[in-house]
Amino acid sequence: MADVGFIGLGNMGGPMAINLVKAGHTVAVFDLSQVACDQLREKGASVAGSAAEAVAGVDYVISMLPAGKHVAELYLGDGGLLSKLDGSVTILDCSTIDAATARRVGEAAVESGIGFMDAPVSGGVAAATAGTLAFMCGGDADTFEKARVILKDLGKNIFHAGPAGAGQVAKGCNNMLLAIQMIGTCEALEMGARNGLDPKVLSEIMLASSGRNWSLEVYNPYPGVMDTAPASDGYQPGFMVDLMVKDLGLAMEIAQQCDIDNAMGKLAAALYGQHQQAGNGKRDFSSILQKLQNEISA
Ligand code: NAD
Repeated sequence: MADVGFIGLGNMGGPMAINLVKAGHTVAVFDLSQVACDQLREKGASVAGSAAEAVAGVDYVISMLPAGKHVAELYLGDGGLLSKLDGSVTILDCSTIDAATARRVGEAAVESGIGFMDAPVSGGVAAATAGTLAFMCGGDADTFEKARVILKDLGKNIFHAGPAGAGQVAKGCNNMLLAIQMIGTCEALEMGARNGLDPKVLSEIMLASSGRNWSLEVYNPYPGVMDTAPASDGYQPGFMVDLMVKDLGLAMEIAQQCDIDNAMGKLAAALYGQHQQAGNGKRDFSSILQKLQNEISA
């Protein structure tokens, strides 16, 4: 069992830290929110007064923060954690952030002799709670082996995508594809429905045919087709439009940096941006079906 310092106890980090406690690790936590800290104390973690205090003497530091600026602030600079840690620690940043910041923090960690891995996740709050997240890791092979020891208590699929930043690139690629597939699935289902097909029957046909994809398989966007999908529960998230827009923004940065003309990705980002602007940010991302329905009717 390991000593872990966990920073960022929000919707994702909270249940992840709880799973580490349940697995028998000694967990010290820190978050700017006292409520989030109190919840972890009740579950058996010790609450530190600062990030530096939470990571003192630990084997692993795990962070789960909103964006690149929070991660850079936590690790880099004068008071940053890199200046307080030594080579015995392994840092896993599980936040979804821009690949450039992940590389920058990763390189600074290596210069200080500290193992660092960007390890963003796929799977939302339900997967964080169930301990079934997928991790996409970027860093060197030794650090990946150390990361695996602890990540297996948080997820079921742990991938080594490549060097520092590769985890964030993998996540950007995946979520861009997810957005494109979700929009395409909505278009196909709506086109069928407007031609008199039952969306449930059409879904079964496409699931057994070459249009099969994740959105059809486990997350059908048409209300009533799949009881467990957010579409059948008024598009309660699930995975919020706000988060999809964030992830598509990061994917567009990656695309720009490598000079690819990702026409489909750009279109998906624009459509999700419009859907967010129309007041749907807190709804599930499969509610993009309603944007399409409103525009066809208009
Ligand atoms: P959240 O906003 O619920 O939690 C972030 C937490 O970080 C908050 O509790 C906040 O107080 C804390 N925090 C911010 N700055 C801090 C600092 N300097 N020190 C300590 N604590 C600080 O966000 P979330 O939904 O838990 O998401 C976390 C990350 O996971 C994000 O990068 C997000 O994109 C990614 N992610 C989220 C989901 C999801 O479904 N929510 C899914 C996959 C990935």
